[in-house]
Amino acid sequence: MAPYPDKSKNNNPPKDDDKSNHRLPIWYHPIYTDGIHPDARFPRDRYTKLVNKIKTGECSDQFFIKQPIEATRNELIVAHNPYYVDNFLNQNLSEKEIKRIGLTPWTPQIIPRTLLLMGGAIAALDHVMKNGGFAGNLAGGTHHAHHDFGSGYCIFNDLAVCSLLALSRYKLTKIAVIDLDVHQGDGTATILQDVDQVLTISVHCKQNFPFRKSESDYDLELHANAGDEEMLESVAQALDITKQFEPELILFQAGVDGLATDALGKLNISREGMSRRNEMVFDFVVEHSIPTVVFMGGGYSEPIEFTIEAFHDLFLSAAQANQQILS
Ligand SMILES: [Zn+2]
Repeated sequence: MAPYPDKSKNNNPPKDDDKSNHRLPIWYHPIYTDGIHPDARFPRDRYTKLVNKIKTGECSDQFFIKQPIEATRNELIVAHNPYYVDNFLNQNLSEKEIKRIGLTPWTPQIIPRTLLLMGGAIAALDHVMKNGGFAGNLAGGTHHAHHDFGSGYCIFNDLAVCSLLALSRYKLTKIAVIDLDVHQGDGTATILQDVDQVLTISVHCKQNFPFRKSESDYDLELHANAGDEEMLESVAQALDITKQFEPELILFQAGVDGLATDALGKLNISREGMSRRNEMVFDFVVEHSIPTVVFMGGGYSEPIEFTIEAFHDLFLSAAQANQQILS
């Protein structure tokens, strides 16, 4: 096997204080929960519950919680139609457009929430590009947002915005979006369809939303009720494809809505299977020293505690891999 290029760049000394002990930086803001109306049919408390577990649970000293600033209009329009962006910012979206997104009823807080959530993703991207290793956003993975409309709880597409910003801001030429959420990354696929520098891979349940699928570069479909073994085989295949592509950056949509306990998932994945999935991705990242941003993605278990547990496993595993990659 040929050695992977560019390993040496990650041996540079740390460039900022957060790196002195290699804690995993995670962007978070209370508005991730508070910006969603309490009556919305969405488990909004999952953000608050997860950040509390990260702050007080096992290995809490391995994390560094950072506060985002709002993404700018100029950052959003790299992936979105300016009319759509302006209509959202000016509260001019039609009822039909809002209904397609969900998270209703909306409050005016949905605007700063969306901008801060996007800002968190962009800050995590900037961090890994400057420092190497991992960073995460404790929300997002908004893969159902398209160029000029939102859908399925997603207003703007953080994966597409970060991909396109990484191309222009950091002059990258090879980025891989690995989307392991149970739902297809349809918005990401269409926005990045003609962008050869970005490889889009989606592992998802065929019989789940969105029912009209887009075309990613690679769609690895699982049938309803698929279990750990089948899912892990597809993840191995996704990583083989990624390896061939030799990316300089990985954007990982790490939704845990494939858990058997998930209300929307339709798969039969165990907590252990989900952890194994994350370890496979992170082992690959460590082996090849690729800067990686972790986007939370979906998770709707009933009770929600199973989702929180799986996301905590995810970020803990990322923190441990971050120690390995930077030490
Ligand atoms: Zn999902």
